[in-house]
Amino acid sequence: MYTDVLLFIDGAWTKAAAGRTLPVVNPATGDEIGTVPHADRSDLDRALEAAEKGFKAWRKVSAFDRSKIMRKAANLLRERVDQIAPLMTLEQGKPLPEAKGETLAGADVIDWFAEEARRAYGRVIPARAEGVYQLVVKEPVGPVAAFTPWNFPINQVVRKLSCALAAGCSIIVKAPEETPASPAELIRCFADAGVPAGVINLVYGVPAEISEYLIPHPVIRKVSFTGSTAVGKQLAALAGAHMKRVTMELGGHAPSIVFDDADVDLAAKLLSANKLRNAGQVCISPTRLLVQERIYDQFVGKFTEAVKAAKVGDGMQRDTRMGPMANPRRIAAMEAFIGDAVQHGATLKTGGNRIGNKGNFFEPTVLTEVPKDSRIMNEEPFGPVAVISPFSNFDDVVTEANRLPYGLAAYAYTRSAKTANAIAAAVETGMISINHHGLALPEVPFGGVKDSGYGSEGGSEAIEAYLNTKFVSQAGI
Ligand code: NAD
Repeated sequence: MYTDVLLFIDGAWTKAAAGRTLPVVNPATGDEIGTVPHADRSDLDRALEAAEKGFKAWRKVSAFDRSKIMRKAANLLRERVDQIAPLMTLEQGKPLPEAKGETLAGADVIDWFAEEARRAYGRVIPARAEGVYQLVVKEPVGPVAAFTPWNFPINQVVRKLSCALAAGCSIIVKAPEETPASPAELIRCFADAGVPAGVINLVYGVPAEISEYLIPHPVIRKVSFTGSTAVGKQLAALAGAHMKRVTMELGGHAPSIVFDDADVDLAAKLLSANKLRNAGQVCISPTRLLVQERIYDQFVGKFTEAVKAAKVGDGMQRDTRMGPMANPRRIAAMEAFIGDAVQHGATLKTGGNRIGNKGNFFEPTVLTEVPKDSRIMNEEPFGPVAVISPFSNFDDVVTEANRLPYGLAAYAYTRSAKTANAIAAAVETGMISINHHGLALPEVPFGGVKDSGYGSEGGSEAIEAYLNTKFVSQAGI
């Protein structure tokens, strides 16, 4: 069912001009399942020209009509979920129910931004003189270049694409080469819903070649990137040198704090489930589990049992709880993180090894007593490895939570409203979810602080990043 993927430029599905392709590999089998075009400069030039033309047309479409087209795209995405979700599982590895959930959540994101399109209000400021009107008008920023990663092939695209379209912008999406088919099908829904040619353009190729060409290009007015902090800093610097608006959604290392008055069963159940989601390849994955001393052993026992019980396998199989890692780089990364932690004196409670020699399967892993100077306590693990450490009091856990330059998500479990309020105020992150995992809904802000980036990809804040503010002062004559 997996077919070769094409570029989408100026309303047409097309091969790369030079005919070059890159292979797409199923991470559960290691087999090549298709190809994706490798765009070169001439393809990018066509996409830029189309985006410039598309912007001129789309900005004139009323917010009411943009919203209607977007809602139609959302409905098409829902109708096609059973065709699209298996493509995602085949190319990315996540279990089919997760792929379906991501696809359907994508439709909700489109609906939210379709509504936001009609709420991009300006305002009227009282003037000092009679007959003067002082207007604040919101205008689309212009053609957008968006760069998205392979961990959530639809979700990462749909947030940027929907927001850009809602604001009246056109967009060039550089979607992930490793997981290209499901984002292409997302874009097909928009095209079939009636988005005019040139408004959405989809390219693949060598990420650095594409970003280095598109970001400085005068047609592009806004850059949005999701990926690692290291790459994000490079792209933000490039965008800064060319005075481009930027949204950066980068890595995290989520402190996940369990106080000794918490519901330990609930905390172990939800944190383990969220750790294994998408094989831990999630920027808001709980990574540093910090558990208060009195309940530490109890929590470690329950958490370890829960991850041990999870069935690892091909995401297309019905009983699979965790699929393979998306690419062989992640296997090598897990082995290096775990080897380093153990060498520093950590205890391996469970897991730690690759499973089999075909596909990128890795055991859900729990490490305890991990010294702070080991790599995994400092770098984003991005895999199914949980690190659990004890803490004695509130101040100590806040110090540890805020020790790293990351500041994306945090989690906390406590039955005390006072502790909940205090921890929400004390952590230096863009998001915190307490006693449940309630992040990443379309209607709530999503984004980080510190090295985790800036800007929001959800909530009413998101569309601002795609709008310019124009002040108009007008006197009667
Ligand atoms: P990577 O850092 O090379 O790539 C991460 C993403 O950035 C990929 O989608 C890649 O295509 C893109 N990218 C890389 N260089 C680029 C460039 N110069 N211009 C434009 N895009 C570029 O590494 P990787 O092996 O794919 O992933 C490793 C790390 O990336 C993970 O450990 C994780 O920290 C981070 N990551 C984060 C997210 C997220 O949701 N924030 C998603 C995927 C990966």
